[in-house]
This record gives sequence, structure tokens and C-alpha cells, in this order.
Amino acid sequence: MKKNIIWQIVAAFILAIIVGLIFGERASFVQPLGDLFLRLIQFIIIPLILSTIVVGVTSAGDIKKLGRLGGKTVSYFLVTGFIAIAIGLTAGYLFSPGTGADVSIDEGAVTSNETEGVVQTLLNIVPTNPIEALTSGNVLQIIFFAIFLGIGIILVGEKAAPVKHFFDGFAEIMYKITGMIMVLVPLGIFGLLAPIVGEYGASVLLPLIKLILAMLVACLIHAVVVYGSAVKTFSKVNPLDFFKGIFPATAVAFSTASSAGTLPVTMKNTQESLGVSKETSSFVLPLGATINMDGTAIYQGVAVLFIAQYFSVELSFAQIMTVALVATLASIGTAGVPGAGLIMLTMVLAAVNLPLEGIALVASIDRILDMMRTAVNVTGDASASVVVDSSEKNRDSPAA
Ligand code: ASP
Repeated sequence: MKKNIIWQIVAAFILAIIVGLIFGERASFVQPLGDLFLRLIQFIIIPLILSTIVVGVTSAGDIKKLGRLGGKTVSYFLVTGFIAIAIGLTAGYLFSPGTGADVSIDEGAVTSNETEGVVQTLLNIVPTNPIEALTSGNVLQIIFFAIFLGIGIILVGEKAAPVKHFFDGFAEIMYKITGMIMVLVPLGIFGLLAPIVGEYGASVLLPLIKLILAMLVACLIHAVVVYGSAVKTFSKVNPLDFFKGIFPATAVAFSTASSAGTLPVTMKNTQESLGVSKETSSFVLPLGATINMDGTAIYQGVAVLFIAQYFSVELSFAQIMTVALVATLASIGTAGVPGAGLIMLTMVLAAVNLPLEGIALVASIDRILDMMRTAVNVTGDASASVVVDSSEKNRDSPAA
């Protein structure tokens, strides 16, 4: 069954390329298939995140363990995030994608991408009305609410037990529904990818081919070297098994360009193919899908250098450090939805006084870069769950 789905996904990729190439823009006739799949995974995300985070927090059992779990998770996110930016910046230097790039600025895409700045982005994590957060789908706020709900349940104890059971049961139901939707993964991937292949012709891609290549190489190096060695070193998991196990989620991330949308599949994959416990995956993955964006960090690094090179601006060492810092914050603040990283790029450009018109330069191919960065984002979340889970298991039974 597991092998089957991998081959079905590979077949979906090949078929999407063929249909896209044959039908060009008319390949959008299969879009409804992709949209159906997207809507199906989206409709469980909010209840899934709320219930699984509550389960993740309450099954930690006590605040101390929760603190340890949170500490390990966030440390892993931060360390891999910094490495990601370093790799992105290095690729930006080595490939010099912006030097002599023959692209013109589409003014229309420039001014609308205003962000609120770092402080407000952080403040926005605290919901003033959790119900509104749920209905508007503000994932970071929902996570904040769910973590406190979980902590409250732990602290209240006996009296809150029915609430804990409710969320336990609710999360199980969400996993069940995810299982049903999983059957449609290959069909959904086909429906999403064929129109993209049909839409992007050589005239759009070629002028920015160096940028695409720089991003691709940086993403591959980050995934293979950082995640591969992390799961091998900390969890004794064969990297090949890891990448095979997580492949369906990576493929869904690539096709949907949404880590939040992929979350149900990521949870299913890590639990069933990589043996991560429900406790760990329920805590680490929703958090990761929202704040851990290594692919986005790589993208910020590559894109900032691309834009600086295009405008012939030399960045000083201090500016590079600023990019690294702001890009970390930006990738934390980026929502796990398509195109969010492009909007956050505004924040990074503004921090080093680069022209915001730079956004328009990458906008035409952002979807392609988004697919790559989201695939890395989701694979990174999965690697975090594997590493944190085995460190927790080792603690519980050191001999194992
Ligand atoms: N689309 C990305 C994601 O969902 C976020 C981004 O645009 O960088 O992970």
C-alpha cells in the first residue's frame, strides 16, 4: 500500500507533465480535480490543528515535560532555520542569479505587499478573540489558544478530564478523515500540477533560470545534508527510509505550495511510515507547519541577493547579518499558505533598504519557487518530529 502510493504519485507527476505540455494553458480543465483535493484537505486543517495541539500538550502530562518538548522543538527549528539562510545566501553568491538578469519590472505587482513589521507580527500571535481566530483561520493564533487550552487542562486536572477526552476523540476523528482523503492524493497532485506545467512557458522561466537553479540546488543540499544527517545522527533512521517515508507529504507540499494544507498528510505519514508517536507529531507538526519554514528562509536568502545583484547594490557584512536575522523572523511569521513568503520578502528588503520593486522581479515565477520551498518546509517539519520523538523515547527508555 505504502509503495503503491509512491508509484501512484510518480505516475501523477509524469502524467501532469505530459498533459501540461500537450494542452498548454488549456490544461486548466483538470484544475477542478486539484481544487477538490485542496478543499478536502483544507476543510480539516483548523479542527485538526486545534485538537491535535491540545492532545500534544495534554499528553505531555506535565508542564516540565512540555517545556522540554517545546525547547527541543524550537531549538531544532531555529538551528535548521539559520543553516537554511546560510545555505540560501551562499547559493545566492555562488550562482549570482541577478547579475545581468534580463527581466523587467512589472510595476503592478509592487506596492500592495506591505507588511506590518516585526513587532506587530509578533504581537499578532496573541488572539484577542480565539473564536474569531478559528473562524478566520489564523493558524498562529489558534496554536496559541490551543497551547493554553492544553496547559489549562493539565493544571486543572480531574475536572478537565472530559475536555481532554473530547479533544482526544476529536483528533482521532480528524486522523480518520485524513486517511479517507489520502486516497485522493495522486489525483489531487495531478489536478494541481498539470495546469501549472501548462501555464509556465519557457519565456517566463528562462530569464530567471539561474534563480530557479540556485533555489533548487540550495533546497536539495539543505534537505539531503541537514535533514539526512539530523535523522541519521539523532534518531538512527536511514536517511533514505526517511525521504521515502515522507515522500507523499513532500509531493503534496510541492503541488499545493501550502505547509498548512499539507499538514494532515504530514501527520499521517510521520505516524504511519516513520513511526513517530502521536504525542510528538501532534505537538511538533502543527507548530512546524506554522513557524518552521526552512525553505522560505533559503528563498529569502537567495531572493535578497538576486534583487541586490539586479540593482547592483553591494551588501555589507552587517547588512547580510541583518538579512539573516530578519529572514529568520520573517520565516517564523510566514503563514503556511501559497505565496506568503513573497509578501514576507518585503520585510527583509525593507530592513536592508533594497528597492521594494524587487518583489515584482520574482513575482512572475514565485509559484515555482514556492513549490520548492514548501516541499523543504514540510520535510523539515517531519525531520523535527523524527528527531524530537526519538530523543523523547530515549529518555523514557534509555536502553532502547
Ligand atoms: N507556501 C509556503 C508554505 O506554505 C510559505 C511561503 O510562501 O514561503 O510553506
